[in-house]
Amino acid sequence: MERITMAHGAGGTIMQDLIERVIVKNLGGSEAEVPLEALDDSAVIDDIVLKSDSHTVKPLFFPGGDIGRLAVAGTVNDIAVMGAKPLALTSGCIIEEGFPISDFEKIVKSMAETCREAGVHIITGDTKVMEKGTLEKFVVNTSGIGKRTELLDRNIAVVKRYRPFKARWLLDSNLREGDKIIVSGTIGDHGVALLSFREGYDFGSEISSDITPLNNVISHLLNVGGIVKMKDPTRGGLANTLNEWSEKSKVGITIYEEKIPIRVGVKAACEMLGIDPLEIGNEGKIAIAVVPQKADDVLKALKKTKEGKDAEIIGEATNESRGVIIETEVGGRRILAPPVGDPVPRIC
Ligand code: MG
Repeated sequence: MERITMAHGAGGTIMQDLIERVIVKNLGGSEAEVPLEALDDSAVIDDIVLKSDSHTVKPLFFPGGDIGRLAVAGTVNDIAVMGAKPLALTSGCIIEEGFPISDFEKIVKSMAETCREAGVHIITGDTKVMEKGTLEKFVVNTSGIGKRTELLDRNIAVVKRYRPFKARWLLDSNLREGDKIIVSGTIGDHGVALLSFREGYDFGSEISSDITPLNNVISHLLNVGGIVKMKDPTRGGLANTLNEWSEKSKVGITIYEEKIPIRVGVKAACEMLGIDPLEIGNEGKIAIAVVPQKADDVLKALKKTKEGKDAEIIGEATNESRGVIIETEVGGRRILAPPVGDPVPRIC
C-alpha cells in the first residue's frame, strides 16, 4: 500500500505528483479565473484572490521568528505576489492537550504584530484541541483574501508598453524570452536558520530566519511597473520557483551563479551539510520577473527598501529549450533540476 511520506509535504516533484494525482484530479474543474489546476501562488475568482496555507514548522519558536509570524507572512505573501492587495485573514488553530496557554498567547501576539506590519487583520477563525500524543503541540492554518487594485492595472499597462500581455494577474505562465529575473535578497536564510537551531549545529555565525510580510515592498514595485510575475520562493527554494516558471511559461531560464546573493554563513552551512542553498525555503524573499526595459528601475527601487537592499538581477528568460541552466563562476553550465523535495523538512 502506498502511504504518505515526509517527502509528500516537502514542496518538490514528489509533492507535485501527489497534488496532481489526488487533489487536482478530484477537486479541479472550477470556473475560477485562476483555478486550482493552475497551481499558482493563489487562486482568483471574481477579482478576489484566495489563498490557504497550513503551518507545521518545528520547533514553534526559532531565531528570527515563530509559527505565528510565519502563518501571517506566508499567506499575505502568496496573495501579494499575484499582484493583489491582501485584505483579511482567517486562522484555524489545532492544539495538543497540555500545550502551555502562555505559549499559545505568545504565538497569537506574534500573529497580531505581523498583521500590523502587513496592515491586515485576522477576522475569523477556529480553535480545536486534540488529545495528548495525537498531534505534535500546535499547527495552524491561515487563509486569506485579497483584491485587485489599480496598482496592478498600472503595472500591467507598463508591461504593455513593451510587449503584448494578455494576463490580468501575475502568473507563473507570464514569462517571455528576454524577461529579467531579480531576487530581492539573500537566499537560504530561513531553512538554514531552522535546521541549525533544530539540530544544534554551530556554523560559527548566527543565521536567523528572514520571515517578513512583503506586501508593502510589492506595492512599491508595482508602482514602478513592468513586472510580469513574482513569487516567494518557499519550499523547494529558488530552484523550484524557476523550474515552475520555465515549465508553465514555456521558456528557458539562465541564471548566473555569482549573481545570486547568499550569506557567507549560509553558504558554509550548506557546503558542510551537502545541501544546495537554491533548494532551501525562504520566507522573506521575492523572485521577480520583469520586462528587460524596467529591470534596472525595479532593482533600484528594491535596493532602497530594507527588505531589498541585497537585491540582484540574477538571470533571464531565454528561447533555449525549457528548463533552468546555471552558468557557474568558472564559466561552466549545469542544469538546475526541480528538487525532489526540500532538503530541510518542516520549515513552514
Ligand atoms: Mg508561494
